[in-house]
Amino acid sequence: MLRVLRRRMDEITGSSSGSAFDAVWALCDNRAHFSPARIASFSRIATALESYLRAVGAPADLLPGPLPLHDALISLISREECNSFGVYTFARKGPRSGRDSHGLALIPDAVYFNHGCLPNVGHVSRNVDGVPAYLFYALRDLDAGEEAEISYVELDDGEGAGVGRTVTERRDTLERLFLFRCDCARCRVEMGGGDSDVGRRELARMLCLEGGCRGRFVPADMAVGGRPVGLEEEDWVCEACGRKRV
Ligand SMILES: [Zn+2]
Ligand SMILES: [Zn+2]
Repeated sequence: MLRVLRRRMDEITGSSSGSAFDAVWALCDNRAHFSPARIASFSRIATALESYLRAVGAPADLLPGPLPLHDALISLISREECNSFGVYTFARKGPRSGRDSHGLALIPDAVYFNHGCLPNVGHVSRNVDGVPAYLFYALRDLDAGEEAEISYVELDDGEGAGVGRTVTERRDTLERLFLFRCDCARCRVEMGGGDSDVGRRELARMLCLEGGCRGRFVPADMAVGGRPVGLEEEDWVCEACGRKRV
């Protein structure tokens, strides 16, 4: 939040060019869908942010629109809550270490990806020439006109569970976390009594399960540290243990 507000201040004072803040402000805030308890917690954060803004001498009309600053800050926090991406690295601590999440990023160009429970697009956060970047890649060939979908959650933990063992559990989890009822192609099949193992097997292809590793296969060019020596562009590699997918 502080970075977003700092960006806004820099854009207002002209010390930073561009209109990144406008793109963030244009995101939906889904405020009406948050529970009173969540809004109360946002309100406490907004109070702290107001103190910060006073301390740095931010103008009273820092945020656009007619809302008083406190309400506008709650609205900004709501935008962050429902539109941000986790920023993570695979720290290579060995099998089962999982990804290290070390922050959140608002990427206005990327929020238009809808969720699919069998996504056809994956993503990694990497440093590209010293600049933090979010990279997206196709998980399989896409048909012309096919919607590109990412997954908002860890769908499979390598033990067949992930966010839910059944389609009902999965949809309930998504609704609790992201305030929507998933109606993706996989959910429709499984809600209609279709075999839930079909989607699970497809997801398992994206995970390295060798020797208990649960790293994710990524295109070789997106391996941590770049494409490993000896691998081709079309190869896929586990970002945890470096194993090539066969
Ligand atoms: Zn779904
Ligand atoms: Zn692995």
